[in-house]
Amino acid sequence: MIRKFLSKVFSRKEPASESIAKLRIVSNKQHRIRANQITPCALKITGNLQQAGFSAYIVGGAVRDLLLGLTPKDFDVATNATPEEVRQLFRRSRIIGRRFRLVHVMCGTETVEVSTFRGSTANDDDDESIQLTDQHGRLLRDNVFGSQEEDAVRRDFTVNALFYDPIKEEILDYLNGFEDIKTKKLRIIGNPDQRFREDPVRMLRAVRLASKLDMQIDAETAKPIGDLAPLLQNVPPSRLFDEMLKLLLSGYALACVVELRARGLHHGLLPMLDVILEQPLGERFITIALKNTDERVRQDKPVSPGFLFATLLWHEVLSSWNAYQAAGEKPFPALFKAMDRILSLQHEKLAIPRRFDAVIQEIWSMQPRFEMRAGRRPFHLLTHPRFRAAYDFMLLRCESGELDPELGEWWKKFSVVDNTEREKMLLKQTAPKRKRRRSRKKAATDTMSPVASNLSDAD
Ligand code: ATP
Ligand code: MG
Repeated sequence: MIRKFLSKVFSRKEPASESIAKLRIVSNKQHRIRANQITPCALKITGNLQQAGFSAYIVGGAVRDLLLGLTPKDFDVATNATPEEVRQLFRRSRIIGRRFRLVHVMCGTETVEVSTFRGSTANDDDDESIQLTDQHGRLLRDNVFGSQEEDAVRRDFTVNALFYDPIKEEILDYLNGFEDIKTKKLRIIGNPDQRFREDPVRMLRAVRLASKLDMQIDAETAKPIGDLAPLLQNVPPSRLFDEMLKLLLSGYALACVVELRARGLHHGLLPMLDVILEQPLGERFITIALKNTDERVRQDKPVSPGFLFATLLWHEVLSSWNAYQAAGEKPFPALFKAMDRILSLQHEKLAIPRRFDAVIQEIWSMQPRFEMRAGRRPFHLLTHPRFRAAYDFMLLRCESGELDPELGEWWKKFSVVDNTEREKMLLKQTAPKRKRRRSRKKAATDTMSPVASNLSDAD
């Protein structure tokens, strides 16, 4: 039984007898990709593998991006050599992954992922003791080696299934991906219902790739998405989180979130998005935040995921905070209760890993402190290690109309001028010395927005 299982999982399979693919070879006159657009590392790897008698191609996103005139993020190689054979050819390489055994080959600072052609396992389960899908059709295993054609067919979209041979300078196209690139159609390979069931994350990939590549999701491909959206619940949270991060950091987060919502795909990712976007202030806040993120990504500036999650959840925290205060809680305890509540709701449903909690909580809990502009408090805030993130967050709140823009302007100036100038900027504490404790509280209160006006017992 074990031997049978292993031979099934690791054997090199013969090509499928009944083919759904038809090979077309696209010459360099048609595709216009030049070998010098491929990184030296990827060129070396494909070249060496071919010299050793294997077939080897650049595959997936890189070929697609080059055809679209975009710069690929990275280069992946597919070959008929087994991971061990690849490993032996390249000194600086290592086999990674237990389920999908891939080889990472390093040259200089670049790493290229080399994978052995894989076959599809969904329809050829002749041994019922090896369960390949769950009860919804989700693939539990897809680590069977296969032919190049099978490797094309098991990929997600036709535009992602092109093989580029940089030595012959030709593209092998089994699934009409080349035409789909030209007409900007994002089409899933095979039966859409089955392919989305096999891996529901493909629905999220469809939205992300369509936004990023400015492509239309083909009507047949899009049709089952609405019905199958709930299957995202069965995907392991860590995988969902990875995909959500890719989506939010794609440079097209705003377009993606709008599209996710339109297709009902956001429930498993950002369960609270509906509630937030129903309020004009919440919608404005998230729109501005995502637009800013997209601009930063496109300018190659760093984006902190913690900051991003803090923005996505803020309006939920805000309404929960208000509710606790309305129920008689004091402002600071109310804010902390609201933060805990929203974060634990989010942990239950999705998947923002706990490692981001500290940053998110710091950004949120510093917010009321921006409204205290008398005494030493603004100076202390400036020295806080998380000042910059909290400050950017406060500016977003001003820009979205939640806070008076004057507050943002004040902090913009306060953060850049010298200390003498800062002293002059402080709002006055009018309290007489004798009654210092009580009056200080009152003076601070006078300078605050309604939300923060009850917070002066806090620090
Ligand atoms: P990008 O890297 O720009 O986000 P990509 O298409 O390169 O896009 P990767 O996640 O790097 O995405 O995947 C590489 C290739 O692996 C894809 O082009 C596709 O052929 C295949 N692939 C990725 N995810 C899936 C999936 N869920 N189902 C089937 N094939 C997939
Ligand atoms: Mg890629």
